[in-house]
Amino acid sequence: MANTTWNRQLLPDAARLTPARRAERTAAPAFGEVLTEHMVSLEWSAEQGWHNAAVLPFGPLPLAPSTVGLHYGQVVFEGLKAYAQPDGSVAAFRPEHHASRFQRSAARLAMPELPVGLFLESLAELVAADRRWVPEVESQSLYLRPVLFATDPSLALRPSATYRFLVLAAVTEDFFGADAPPVAVWASTRYSRAASGGTGEAKCAGNYAGAFVAQVEAAEHGCQQVVWLDAAEHRWVEEMGGMNLFFAYGDHLITPPLSGSLLPGVTRASLLALAAELGFTVEERRITLEKWREDSRSGAMTEAFACGTAAVITPVGRVAAASGDFTIGDGGAGTAAKRLRGALVDLQRGRAEDPRGWRYRLAER
Ligand SMILES: *Cc1c(COP(=O)(O)O)cnc(C)c1O
Repeated sequence: MANTTWNRQLLPDAARLTPARRAERTAAPAFGEVLTEHMVSLEWSAEQGWHNAAVLPFGPLPLAPSTVGLHYGQVVFEGLKAYAQPDGSVAAFRPEHHASRFQRSAARLAMPELPVGLFLESLAELVAADRRWVPEVESQSLYLRPVLFATDPSLALRPSATYRFLVLAAVTEDFFGADAPPVAVWASTRYSRAASGGTGEAKCAGNYAGAFVAQVEAAEHGCQQVVWLDAAEHRWVEEMGGMNLFFAYGDHLITPPLSGSLLPGVTRASLLALAAELGFTVEERRITLEKWREDSRSGAMTEAFACGTAAVITPVGRVAAASGDFTIGDGGAGTAAKRLRGALVDLQRGRAEDPRGWRYRLAER
């Protein structure tokens, strides 16, 4: 699909929300609840490849009850953000990186890979259609949710021959707020998120369905999030909920290496680069739960924090586990987390120079 022809079925102004109603809906958006008025849609089949590129009013989909994606979970997604820039344009943060991860996730689930160019075009189409939903206020952004799912109407246990790609957009506030209080996390030794050879590296729907029960367990222990340990020994720390983890020993940062079972976060990769520039030393190294406890108790470890697109950076104040609870640092947000968050947010929102070209313009002013 070299020259994509878009079928743009945009709502007439009279059918859209008035500015007053839109302001009301977006005043305090709960994550994922305030969807915009349009969506992008593409289809794939072996004969036609990617086709039927359209911008449609946001609305329900007619689906065969036997749809493969619904029964066998052949579904992958992405999550990235678009930010209003000081010059009036709209930019996404490293969308090419999300596009190639989307391809790798699709390949892992035996699904067709959406070309990077078409992924980027889709984001720009949706932002153009819903331009008035791009928040101007600091602390809000437009969360973009590409999703690809299998659409064959069949209960046959094999990869689908047809697929649908959608992009949705939601007005979002920083997940845990800009000055987020640190979270308490539950280290689960009962459940695993991903094992060697599994789908942990892919952003596939089933990974999250499998995590919900552990999330409930965490809440029962007074924690907001789950920390995942490796599936083989339940010792090595992997990640937290839908975020990657960093540990600070003063100005030395460590983060678990990409073992194959944790999700390679764009935020994680960006922080590794930024931290080195801010004067931190960085190291990809495995750490056990026992070592985390020991170094927190001795004071050698000064901070722990999680990072991801939705919440940017979330400090971890306390860990609860079957083997005992402990606090990191003074249990509050640390300076490393604050400095890194500031540097990253300044880049995303166009307040800092962008020598690496991480901002990608989705719409002109
Ligand atoms: C999406 C996700 C992350 C963070 O990735 P980003 O690209 O930084 O948003 C980390 N872990 C899991 C399990 C995820 O799904």
